[in-house]
Amino acid sequence: MELFTLPRQQALGKVWLVGAGPGDVELLTLKAYRILKKADVVLYDALVSDEIMALVPADAEKIAVGKRAGKHSAAQDEINQLLVTKAYTRQNVVRLKGGDPFIFGRGGEELETLVEAGVAFEVVPGITAASGTSAYAGIPLTHREHAQGVTFITGHCKLESRPTDWSSYANSQNTLVIYMGILNAGTIQQGLINAGRAASTPVAIVSKATTANQRSVIGTLGELEQLAASPELKMPALMIIGEVVGLATSLNWFNPDEANLSVEETLAVTNQV
Ligand code: SAH
Repeated sequence: MELFTLPRQQALGKVWLVGAGPGDVELLTLKAYRILKKADVVLYDALVSDEIMALVPADAEKIAVGKRAGKHSAAQDEINQLLVTKAYTRQNVVRLKGGDPFIFGRGGEELETLVEAGVAFEVVPGITAASGTSAYAGIPLTHREHAQGVTFITGHCKLESRPTDWSSYANSQNTLVIYMGILNAGTIQQGLINAGRAASTPVAIVSKATTANQRSVIGTLGELEQLAASPELKMPALMIIGEVVGLATSLNWFNPDEANLSVEETLAVTNQV
C-alpha cells in the first residue's frame, strides 16, 4: 500500500520583520513606512513610539507584545507562534521592533520559527539605539584619534551567574556601547575597572534618545553607578563608554525642547519633497 502525505498548507501571507528606529519618527526608513501603510496586522514592542503606531492603518489589527521590566508580556514562544498563525490568515503581517530587529531584538529567533513553519518573510533594518544616540548626543562612536573600533554589548544578561569577560572590553582605544545596562551599572563599572579600563574614562548615559524627552548625563567610569541613578534618566537608556564621549560638549547639536514636530507636520514636509 502506498502512503500519501498531504501537501503542507501554504501560508497566505508574509511576515515583515521591521526596525522602527530609536524613537524619532523621521528615523523610520521609507521602506518601513511603506510596509506599515499596507499592514493587515502589526505585532509591536513596547519601545515602538505612539507616533510610529499612528502611521498604521486604522483598520489594521494592532497587538502589543512588548516587554517592559517587571511587567507581564507575551513569552517569546507565544510571539513566535502568533506570527505563524497570523501569516496563515493575513496578507501582510508586520513584526515591528524598536531600533534594528537584529540588534538585541530576538529577530533571529522569530525568523527561525518562520523558516520551520514555511512562512515567507522579509527583513527591514532600522537605526539601532547606538547610532541614534551617538548622532543625537554628539558622540561619534569612532574617531581616528580616540577610538578605532566600537563594540555593542548587552548589560542585561545575568551578569553574576554568567560572568562577562570584561578584559575583552577594556581596550582604551575602543568605544563600548551597552544596551540594557542601567540596572547593572555597578557590576559594569567594577568589571571594567578591574579589567584595567581607567576609572577616568568618560561615559555618557542617554535616555529616550532622539525624542523630545532625551536626557544625557556625562561623567567618568568611576561614577557610572551613581550616574545611572540620576533621577532625570528614564527608560530606555543607553551607556556609551570611551574617550569619544569627551567630544560631546563640543559636538552636541540636538535640543530636545525644539524636537516636537508632529507626525502630520513631518508627513506634510515629506510630501512636499
Ligand atoms: N533592537 C533595539 C534594542 C533593543 S534592546 C535597537 O536596535 O536599538 C532595548 C535597549 O535598547 C534599551 O534597554 C536601551 O538600552 C536601548 N534603547 C532603545 N531605544 C533607546 C532610546 N531611544 N534611547 C536610549 N536607549 C535606547
